[in-house]
Amino acid sequence: MEFFSTRGQGPVNLDEALVRGIAGDGGLFMPTPMPAFSVSDFDEAQSLQAVAQTLLAPFFGGSSLEADLGRIVEETFSFPIPLTDLPSETGTARLLELYHGPTAAFKDVGARFLSACMKRLEGDEASPLTILVATSGDTGGAVAAAFDQQPGMRVVVLFPDGRVSERQAHQLSCWSDNVLSLCVDGSFDECQAMVKAALADEDLSAHYRFSSANSINIGRLLPQSTYYAYASLQHFRETGRKPSFIIPTGNLGNALACIMAREMGLPIESVILATNANRTIPDYFETLEWLPRASLQTLASAMDVGNPSNMERLRSFLGEADVLRTRLGVRSVPDDEIEEDIAIDYKDFDFAVCPHTATATRTWRELDVALREGEDWILVATAHPAKFETVVEPLINDEVPLPPELNAILSRPKRAISIPATQEAMAAEMETRFAGSGEQH
Ligand SMILES: *Cc1c(COP(=O)(O)O)cnc(C)c1O
Repeated sequence: MEFFSTRGQGPVNLDEALVRGIAGDGGLFMPTPMPAFSVSDFDEAQSLQAVAQTLLAPFFGGSSLEADLGRIVEETFSFPIPLTDLPSETGTARLLELYHGPTAAFKDVGARFLSACMKRLEGDEASPLTILVATSGDTGGAVAAAFDQQPGMRVVVLFPDGRVSERQAHQLSCWSDNVLSLCVDGSFDECQAMVKAALADEDLSAHYRFSSANSINIGRLLPQSTYYAYASLQHFRETGRKPSFIIPTGNLGNALACIMAREMGLPIESVILATNANRTIPDYFETLEWLPRASLQTLASAMDVGNPSNMERLRSFLGEADVLRTRLGVRSVPDDEIEEDIAIDYKDFDFAVCPHTATATRTWRELDVALREGEDWILVATAHPAKFETVVEPLINDEVPLPPELNAILSRPKRAISIPATQEAMAAEMETRFAGSGEQH
């Protein structure tokens, strides 16, 4: 398989696309051409892991990781991704539960796949690779959990003090010696600027072998197509009908994985993007003008994105807005509708959804009746509501029980180090924690 930059450079193989993260011309890597499957290619593949093995095999062609695919799949998909039925009086609705991983959000899938690949490609106990990640919430926790105790790998997580929830802060802070958690007295933008400055510092970069694990790495995207393949095959086998998906969307990584699965031939009917009040994508579909902007803060905070980076991939893959709007639906769900829907869902479904998932359930409720009854809908649940209990619990007037995976994390001791938002403070903490290894460079 060859990977080309959205801006033209290439080709490179999977190894290079993973290690480089971003192409030399500033573009994002896409597999080209996309493999083509038919449903019968998956006749022998019944489990999630078996579907992953079949679907991901072509991408590993020409990679040094080809022989390890089985083990990479096992390490990535080590938790269930169930498709459950929702009570519905009008048509069929199911919930795809992506929140049973170690940090209870779908980002566990991409982070674990990237970790399984990177440690095999670049892990070196004498001179570890150091992953830098600035986070405003879910990404850093998933990356820290995925790289925790991986040989030859280190992680430095930077997060803004007081601007992530208490449970999120805990998830960012409770890992082993190879994960350094820095609680920065500053904003998310300052954390991101510190990461950028460190990556650009040649001495520091050579000493620590820096790499990043941000959402534009193709390794975060590819494995996510697996759960769309698995869920659509399961529904198709049971009913003979192709399901449609409604996907909570911020940076467009999760939804793009579904769109890729459909283009690869999986039995998927419609795809609808559900955004929060950040309207960059809905406005683009409406006006045909791409106008990225600063993000607005909403209750679905992991989707607070004003310039979705994966749009560059989607446009190079399918086309501009005039094409995209014929292939995809989109709806923006503001905070008051998120709040209202969390309460309605609790009454109708007898369980709570997280504020991100509520953008999908709301979008489903607002479909016109012919469409809602005419297609079978799978609503994508991106995180467990217990991660956002301060939003959810007052709306449902009830407690959200902690799932076992979150309970396991929250019972570990917290060990974040508070620092000012300076490059020197960050470098000093790295020196203290990591002194004694990686000195060869
Ligand atoms: C990251 C995230 C999203 C948005 O996913 P994208 O791939 O950025 O579109 C939605 N919900 C939750 C819970 C997330 O953590």
